[in-house]
Amino acid sequence: MRTTTDFLLYDWLDVESLTARPRFADHSRETFSSVLDTCERIAAEKFAPFNRLTDTEEPRFDGERVHLPQATHDAALAYAESGMLAAAQDYDAGGMQLPCVIEMAGNAFFSKASVAMGGYAMLTSGNASLLMAHGTPRQKDVFAKNEFAGRWFGTMCLSEPQAGSSLSDVATRAVPDGADFESDPLGPRYRLKGNKMWISAGEHEITENIVHLVLAKIPGPDGKLPPGVKGISLFIVPKKLVDTQGQLTGERNDVALAGLNHKLGYRGTTNTLLNFGEGKFAVRGASGAIGYLVGKPGEGLRCMFHMMNEARIGVGLGAVTLGYAGYEASLEYARTRTQGRPVGVGGKDAAQPPIRIIDHADVKRMLLAQKAYVEGGLALELYCARLVDEQHSGEGAAAHEAALLLEVLTPIAKSWPSEWCLEANSLAIQVHGGYGYTRDFPVEQYWRDNRLNMIHEGTHGIQAMDLLGRKVVMDGGAGLKLLATRINETIDRAGHIQGLAEPANALAATLGKLGAATKAAWATGAPEEALANATPYLQAFGHTVLAWIWLEVALTAQRGTTDFHQGKLAAMHYFFAHELPKVGAWLSVVSSRDATCREMQDSWF
Ligand SMILES: Cc1cc2nc3c(=O)[nH]c(=O)nc-3n(C[C@H](O)[C@H](O)[C@H](O)COP(=O)(O)OP(=O)(O)OC[C@H]3O[C@@H](n4cnc5c(N)ncnc54)[C@H](O)[C@@H]3O)c2cc1C
Repeated sequence: MRTTTDFLLYDWLDVESLTARPRFADHSRETFSSVLDTCERIAAEKFAPFNRLTDTEEPRFDGERVHLPQATHDAALAYAESGMLAAAQDYDAGGMQLPCVIEMAGNAFFSKASVAMGGYAMLTSGNASLLMAHGTPRQKDVFAKNEFAGRWFGTMCLSEPQAGSSLSDVATRAVPDGADFESDPLGPRYRLKGNKMWISAGEHEITENIVHLVLAKIPGPDGKLPPGVKGISLFIVPKKLVDTQGQLTGERNDVALAGLNHKLGYRGTTNTLLNFGEGKFAVRGASGAIGYLVGKPGEGLRCMFHMMNEARIGVGLGAVTLGYAGYEASLEYARTRTQGRPVGVGGKDAAQPPIRIIDHADVKRMLLAQKAYVEGGLALELYCARLVDEQHSGEGAAAHEAALLLEVLTPIAKSWPSEWCLEANSLAIQVHGGYGYTRDFPVEQYWRDNRLNMIHEGTHGIQAMDLLGRKVVMDGGAGLKLLATRINETIDRAGHIQGLAEPANALAATLGKLGAATKAAWATGAPEEALANATPYLQAFGHTVLAWIWLEVALTAQRGTTDFHQGKLAAMHYFFAHELPKVGAWLSVVSSRDATCREMQDSWF
């Protein structure tokens, strides 16, 4: 993965050019590479060797405490000491002022080595970054900076048992805590009551405290919770209360672990049902978890989604790296496992010794598919992370265009690898044959770990509706038009190059069909007709974007002559020959507004 990462960062995306910007002026290719070296080394030493252990020794709750393998504590500590928790933050916040694209590339080594062990740090970094954007100066000093330093870890508490995809149904209630609630130096103080489901890293003893970021609603004068997402507010709810200097006061907050969820994969990260304010740890003489308001009342979801692009690119990258881990394992296996004989004109010669399975065309197909999915996915995620840098540190039109492109690309960045790098994991199992189906080989765990990614951070179906229902139609389709312009620029450049003209023409034809299908989906203006086939649209859109990304990568790869470059071109050709034609089938149901799913009756099942 490292060689491909370097190729994509330096040869394709030219990330070195970022060092010309004032924010990154202290950096150079050397500092970027040394960050990647450090991440790769810590991941290899502290994460990868224990990935299976964290799967088999699931977190255990004894009724009082949660127990994790010591290796998880050691890995989290090593990550915190590397400074990566605050990698992209300002120097004066204790950060390294690294570009987002380098931060993401560095984190990719951890998620590849053990996605579940890396979960604690990823959540903490996201939580603290959100506070840096929306917290008061005191909230940043007390909470965010202690998280960046690795002293406390953080969570994101959105979901509830009855409110998953539809956060407007959040029922956690927050009421002002006493007459002086507005004068607390840590922020307006409330008492929270409610249940939060699926909270990753919601309980552990890796750090002395846990900073929960919780979505809740403040009741109106009639005592009722405001309907819809506009009534949602955001609160900091520490597991243990702290003073204005960030010292523990010795008081336990009223946040109780109701139980751990026992998952298919991702087992090394605790996943919890948390009860807020039920009185198990009544504090200051009353039940109700103490929470400090972040931002203004009613702006909770807006604050939470401020970091959404980065969070969703992070999920996509996690899916890519799990796909990558399976690809590398199955490639190594296919190079050593012998089985079967070549098919010749006269059939098979049983007297010949068996050949390595990598020499069978069908096994090469499975390896090429994985290569096309995972390397294409990696390129997509790094491209999107580079857009985040353009949005934040670029100027004028470039920053605006980056933001617009990210709007349309984010659902793809999250969903495409979640589906296709999971398929890569399935193919990695297939390459291993029966051995792949056992726990003696790592590939089944990669598949189980990866299966989460189509579910969290907005399910596949929700991402699809976001893309077709909102992103491609907003501002009169400005985002889609800009994406089409960028794709057409690539097509123009590739059209003049031998070996790339044919894929360029195929991409041009597909792009035309995608545009026509988008219009046809909305031809009647009826959302229920368009959105009934949103998922095939997401798949078609994703494959078109990936074909574009592969053509882009091929434009850089065709300048080299080594096996490495040949491999990139072969993966690009595989994608165009075997994958891009699928777009036609997906778009046909979109264009005709096929009613099969929409009109299916419950009683017909
Ligand atoms: C391992 C794990 C870790 C998690 N970590 C966290 C965390 O740290 N913090 C947190 O807050 N949450 C977390 N989650 C929760 C996760 O975000 C939710 O599971 C997810 O949002 C889906 O909600 P749900 O499970 O209630 O499913 P539902 O929303 O009930 O969805 C069930 C199915 O119905 C479909 N569906 C739902 N609504 C619609 C609709 N309007 N139109 C069409 N289809 C629809 C969905 O696509 C899905 O296929 C985690 C979940 C898991 C499994």
